[in-house]
Amino acid sequence: MYNYNNLPVKKHEILYIKGVGPKRAEAFAKLGLEYASDLFAVYPRDYLTRTTIREMDNHRDQNVIISGKIIDKYLPKRPNHPTRIIINDGTASIECLIWGNAFYRQKQFMEGDQYMVWGKVTYNFFERKVQFDLRDHKKFEAGDDELLKYPLIPVYILSGELKKTWIKPLNLTKIIFNALKNHSGDVKDVLTESIRSKNNLLEHKQALLRTHYPHSVDDIEHARQTLAFEELFFLQLVTALKKKSIEQEEKGISFDKTGESPARLVKEHLGFELTEAQKRVIKEIHADMKQSRPMNRLLQGDVGSGKTIVAVICMLIAIENGYQCAFMCPTEILAEQHYKTLKDYLDKLGIRSVILTGGQKKKLRTEILDDIKTGKAQVVVGTHAIIQETVEFKKLGFAIIDEQHKFGVMQRAKLRAKGLNPDVLVMTATPIPRTLSLTVYGDLDVSVIDELPKNRRAIKTGLRYEENRQDVYKFLRDEVKKGRQVYIVYPIIDESEKLDLKSAVKHYEILSKEVFADLKLGLVHGRLPWQEIDETIEAFKHGKIDILVSTTVIEVGIDIPNATIMVIEEAQRFGLSQLHQLRGRVGRGAEQSYCILMANKIKRKEDERFVFTGEQETTTADERLKVITETTDGFKIAETDMKLRGPGEFFGIRQSGELKFSAADLSKDMLLIEKARETAFELVEDDPQLRKPENDPVREHFLMNYKDSMSLIKIA
Ligand code: ADP
Ligand code: MG
Repeated sequence: MYNYNNLPVKKHEILYIKGVGPKRAEAFAKLGLEYASDLFAVYPRDYLTRTTIREMDNHRDQNVIISGKIIDKYLPKRPNHPTRIIINDGTASIECLIWGNAFYRQKQFMEGDQYMVWGKVTYNFFERKVQFDLRDHKKFEAGDDELLKYPLIPVYILSGELKKTWIKPLNLTKIIFNALKNHSGDVKDVLTESIRSKNNLLEHKQALLRTHYPHSVDDIEHARQTLAFEELFFLQLVTALKKKSIEQEEKGISFDKTGESPARLVKEHLGFELTEAQKRVIKEIHADMKQSRPMNRLLQGDVGSGKTIVAVICMLIAIENGYQCAFMCPTEILAEQHYKTLKDYLDKLGIRSVILTGGQKKKLRTEILDDIKTGKAQVVVGTHAIIQETVEFKKLGFAIIDEQHKFGVMQRAKLRAKGLNPDVLVMTATPIPRTLSLTVYGDLDVSVIDELPKNRRAIKTGLRYEENRQDVYKFLRDEVKKGRQVYIVYPIIDESEKLDLKSAVKHYEILSKEVFADLKLGLVHGRLPWQEIDETIEAFKHGKIDILVSTTVIEVGIDIPNATIMVIEEAQRFGLSQLHQLRGRVGRGAEQSYCILMANKIKRKEDERFVFTGEQETTTADERLKVITETTDGFKIAETDMKLRGPGEFFGIRQSGELKFSAADLSKDMLLIEKARETAFELVEDDPQLRKPENDPVREHFLMNYKDSMSLIKIA
């Protein structure tokens, strides 16, 4: 749990905050919020301007909040029409339209009742009057006048878990207000006085209070910069301390021997020539492995650039030196697929490998764990099951993380802790701009595969719409006749999740029974047991299925060279990097490959009357699709993606839980990142153990929030 404010923690504290209660406390807990201070770290999504009804016209197109008494109400003449209530705040009156069951509304809104109302001010040119588009309302209760003293009132994102508890935006505002009011008293500082003054930052508590209740718009930015600096600083501090401790005391393994198996694999079993880029990175990694300090290296290479085989060759070196290797994948399907590929190579060289995943039967699992412990298993392929406590290696010397962007910093540290300072190689298809890599992978050295294997032909990418559907189907049929195979990817699993999206399940039915009744179709999606998914993918791999209908479970890593067509339905729903990854599933062999993006021309607008969903469809969808049809260069795509979506989302940082970038915005905070990094490294240089009294606030905050990484990097 992230303790944002160095406070002594009380379990389930949140439960006792006014307005919470057991149900909501549970929902908060699911979001990782258990203590009052956790709520301080929920960053406002927007601010409402506090105003009066008479002043409203000065705030056109803004979100404002007013409070006043209901002086009249009109029930709708027809069902499904809104109830109209008239509110007066002493300066003027305004009409609000309230949707929902009129019978219920009639009892809910009583004349004379005091309400807080949030809405957007618009101007109706036809009727020539100011209109108040209602977003949320809340009956006035004790303490609300205190909240309304502030000129700007925060509103927060309501995520799914919370929505289930019927919480509305203004309820959440009030809850967080109460938390701040009653629990922020002894929030301590997290930086030293000198760091603050040097970087023009607020005190931590000030920054928090002003983030939620700013006195002005400038306040918001100053407070944000402070909190962002703090977040970035502590991330960099982890990196700085880690680097320092590795330099100072950690002795790694020197893999002195090369042995004959790497060369034998390349000569006798590959069936293709390594690219120059592959040879170069193997050399770089090998040189690093020979060093006695532990390797921490990132291997970056676009989808299909051939990272797996590089990893295999490096593993062989480690094995030749008598060590075990671990290969960690983000999903069970990918682990299974990689295991088959790896095992194929390793068996030929007489190397024993096992696979370890979450879903294995107990008896099998016990056997596998035993093989790992006794060293019988030389290579362990698996999911994050590998880093569970029960897994014990005899002599882990080399650890690989595939698709690093799907893992967090802590998982990498945990894998490393399975051996005695093993060399670690993390692999990713996501190219990272330098400043960002400082933040996300600050302690890594980098190797890049900047060349695709020669046998590849550029994938042809096209954008198609509903009216082209029959042509697309005909094209698929013709290609299948030629012996090719097709993926069709849908954004979600079934209709119940979101009403008007195509679903894999439903369309599988239609496609297999009607459109392609004469062809063999398969279906995979995330709700199926992974063994079943794996069976289907295997059948596809062996040509027993012509068209594989799927959700994004096939997004990363799957390698089936004979599949040459990727159809992505509702393409506008996907992020750029995701589209690039999906497209990367084809173009893996010598045949011409195609990627067809099926897009909708009609834009949907979320119903925003009562809740914010946090997702809005904008024109960025079109830009995304255009970029993807114009280039297959992963670097360009990643850059554009980051610009369009912001880096937090881009790296999945927001979901990772380990890095809460609530205030930092990596796309505009480059300068702040540099400053935070410099400050952190200076501090560690000056005080490597954080023992100086003036660094107490830093040390305390660090211990409280990064304890896990502490034990791993041995700082006392
Ligand atoms: P990624 O970098 O996306 O993980 P993979 O390692 O899965 O890519 O490799 C993609 C495909 O390319 C695999 O089928 C692999 O066998 C093949 N491959 C790898 N290196 C070469 C090469 N030098 N020449 C031809 N094919 C290669
Ligand atoms: Mg891969």
